[in-house]
Amino acid sequence: MFDQYDVIVIGAGHAGCEAAHAAAKMGSKVLLCTMNMNTIAQMSCNPAMGGVAKGQIVREIDALGGMSGIISDKSMIQFRMLNRSKGPAMWSPRSQNDRMRFAEEWRLALERNPNVDFWQEMVTGIVVKGGRVVGVRTGMGIEIPGKSVVLTNGTFLNGIIHIGEKQFGGGRTGESASKGITEQLVELGFESGRMKTGTPPRVDGRSLDYSKMEIQYGDENPEKFSYSDETSPLKEQRTCWITYTNKNVHETLETGFDRSPMFNGRIQGLGPRYCPSIEDKINRFAERERHQIFVEPEGWNTVEIYVNGFSTSLPEDVQYKAMRQIPGFENAKMFRPGYAIEYDFFPPTQLSLTLETKLVENLFFAGQINGTTGYEEAGSQGLIAGINASLKVQEKDPFVLQRSEAYIGVLIDDLINKGTEEPYRMFTSRAEFRLLLRQDNADIRLTERGYQIGLAEQSRFDKVQNKKEETARLINDLKQKKLEPAISNEILEEIGTATIREKISIEKLLKRPQIGVNELKILDKDLESYLSGFAQDVLEQAEIQIKYDSYIEKERQMVEKLSNMEDFKIPQKFDYLKVPALSAEGRQKLNKIRPITLGQASRISGVSPADLSILTVYLGR
Ligand code: FAD
Repeated sequence: MFDQYDVIVIGAGHAGCEAAHAAAKMGSKVLLCTMNMNTIAQMSCNPAMGGVAKGQIVREIDALGGMSGIISDKSMIQFRMLNRSKGPAMWSPRSQNDRMRFAEEWRLALERNPNVDFWQEMVTGIVVKGGRVVGVRTGMGIEIPGKSVVLTNGTFLNGIIHIGEKQFGGGRTGESASKGITEQLVELGFESGRMKTGTPPRVDGRSLDYSKMEIQYGDENPEKFSYSDETSPLKEQRTCWITYTNKNVHETLETGFDRSPMFNGRIQGLGPRYCPSIEDKINRFAERERHQIFVEPEGWNTVEIYVNGFSTSLPEDVQYKAMRQIPGFENAKMFRPGYAIEYDFFPPTQLSLTLETKLVENLFFAGQINGTTGYEEAGSQGLIAGINASLKVQEKDPFVLQRSEAYIGVLIDDLINKGTEEPYRMFTSRAEFRLLLRQDNADIRLTERGYQIGLAEQSRFDKVQNKKEETARLINDLKQKKLEPAISNEILEEIGTATIREKISIEKLLKRPQIGVNELKILDKDLESYLSGFAQDVLEQAEIQIKYDSYIEKERQMVEKLSNMEDFKIPQKFDYLKVPALSAEGRQKLNKIRPITLGQASRISGVSPADLSILTVYLGR
């Protein structure tokens, strides 16, 4: 029935969709095999994309030529740039999305690609010959041949759903768990673990009293994720609301603690620390009298509401009773209760930087299967796995992003070198060069890389080149252009910044915290008309580069210093066990992870600075 595929992707979640799209775009013949074609790109939890550090990842995916940014733009109902009051390294785009449209847009995008075939069925195992994957086996016993396989099973591997004392098998509510893959991989020598995550109840928006809540609008001038011209910012937006729990809500929730799978030991997997359930919050922060609840619509037209901040696996009657004590929820009708899910994952230290497994050649893992949480983390891994699966079958060089190039580089480097014991989510604090890894410059950082491997299109490449050239021209001009004291001091005073005694370059003026491009426009008519010849993103880029020049330069110098270590390659057959001077832990970890460079070795937890010096001497550096 099936010809041999270049890349078979198992699972059509966020990781699987990006993997299939990237590989197909790069010319590989792809089969996307998923349990249910009606749940392609399902947002299992929150119908939102981006947020702090995650928004940067969506922009990076987009800059490389992936689809998450475009799909998010096409399905968004509200957009906000978070952390605008902080420095540009912290600005983070976030969208609220229409859950159904998000899934539909992804499916249509994949269907439009003639290199993607689909097959709806549960895959129960992979076919391995001579240490290399050569296909997959399905529940019906069909063997589908493939040169490479990307596993993106999400929360489905031996998934168990918990609601109070009830527990049943499932990969997500209403969907069955995936059986067979974990057992086979463990037999092949893989190590597996167990994690858990949870989701809040969904309610009927018609039953809520919004007058008791605070309204939360989208940005007045909304932006979008994608750098491409394929999408545009929203003209209309839906509002969200904020309300709070209270003592009564907490007391009611506590009545269910003895039946909570979280507290009675039934759930063993570790959950996401930074996305705790409401019972966890009450338990851990007993002194807090209230917790914030974001009331978020699930789409343009649906009445379904996502109760963000109220994730729970308490018995459904307790959830219902407690929820109705939240202001505005007194008459709330529940569509479905919250639940927790436990699932298998594979510690990501078993992967190389391309996300290929070390044990089985041409087998790649991406997404929640690697111990991460979040659509953005999953999508970006899917993108990298899809790219590398495609490059591998085309016998081309692997594609790896450095920590100094992208949050995606930080994510994968952390995963494979440090592993993770609890669901890993991205934070800006995980990146050491976060002033370089901004959301506004992902295209400048990455589009050329995406273009070189045949993923980002020519039009994107040209657009970025143009942005770079225009920004350089503008910065240069602003260094030359001067402002006269006579015409500008009055306005400078109005803006609240020091007046000037002699001519000053616009570049210098722009370094002042009170002055941005918008202020420049009101300072001088000629300047205003000159600036109006530049696109908004060029103006913003020039402003950031000028304002933060010295900090950016410092980070660049640090990257350069470290790149010596990153460039120093370690032979892949190097026998760490024969270096007795290494610490026992260092030796064991180096042998397990098998770093490619000295830089990578330095980031492995358990490898000490002393181990590193010994290694450096041994390698004859
Ligand atoms: P998924 O989106 O889970 O997709 C997996 C895909 O694989 C599905 O299409 C499935 O049908 C398919 N599949 C699985 N096994 C097989 C098989 N054997 N054969 C064929 N197809 C298969 N993230 C957060 O950031 N914060 C949260 O609070 C949060 N809460 C969550 C709560 C719940 C209940 C769930 C289920 C997820 C939650 N997530 C949360 C996680 C978020 O949904 C995931 O991180 C993200 O969806 C992972 O993407 P993925 O592509 O790895 O897997």
